[in-house]
Amino acid sequence: LLQVSGLAKAFDANQVLHDLQFAIAPGEIVGLLGPNGSGKSTLLNIVSGFERPDAGDIRLDGRSIAALPTDRIVALGMVRTFQLPAMPQKMSVLEVAMAAATGAHGVLATLLRSPAARRAERQGHDKAVELLAALLLAPVSHLPAAAISGGQKKLLGIVCALMAGPRLLMLDEPTAGVHPDLRRDIVQALQGLHARGMTLVIVEHDMHFIRELCTRCIVLDQGRIVASCRPDELASNERVVQAYLGAS
Ligand code: ATP
Ligand code: MG
Repeated sequence: LLQVSGLAKAFDANQVLHDLQFAIAPGEIVGLLGPNGSGKSTLLNIVSGFERPDAGDIRLDGRSIAALPTDRIVALGMVRTFQLPAMPQKMSVLEVAMAAATGAHGVLATLLRSPAARRAERQGHDKAVELLAALLLAPVSHLPAAAISGGQKKLLGIVCALMAGPRLLMLDEPTAGVHPDLRRDIVQALQGLHARGMTLVIVEHDMHFIRELCTRCIVLDQGRIVASCRPDELASNERVVQAYLGAS
């Protein structure tokens, strides 16, 4: 589904990613792990088109996307969430979720006022309401998006990503700052999406979450992949242990 080869990125003198090579197969749930600052978010930023790589190629279904803008990548079926989601000041939670529907439906609904466009808009509305309920945001759906809590903003970020109907969803720390009870709901929601054919890449520090959900882990340390293994193999992997002890 996704192939990354020779990927490198530096910010001035800071070489953040070194010659990364990996692939994500359809149906995988890959945990992307690594210490703070190891380059996980930068990798998501590059793969999703928010940053440009210095070198390397990124292929989605065999097609190079390294030079495509973000909205084209979304239209091809790959969507990511942000570690710290920013919310517009003047829109409600429901409006933000509805605005996240991309592609023909969303464009039609805003540009045309035909019956077909109104139908598309209603479908977008119904899907937003359904997803907000699934992620327990129904009680706050009419509040300004900027006013909800940090954990709720993370959940709204997931709703927005799902509105685009991705085949490959990349989540940047979906449970950070979210109440433990709700984490279980997120795990279940993600398992449900996986069962319906979605491929997932999840940046996460919570090992319990990783063990419960992931079929494979990729571990980054100082911008290099030091391991690609099953979650239960992490503890016995010397390079992983070293990465987390800060020895290198
Ligand atoms: P965390 O677990 O804390 O979220 P991370 O693995 O996501 O960490 P990144 O956010 O990818 O780490 O950051 C990796 C390195 O890249 C850091 O040294 C960071 O300062 C640097 N960096 C990231 N984005 C930029 C940027 N836009 N400009 C300059 N440096 C950046
Ligand atoms: Mg990060």
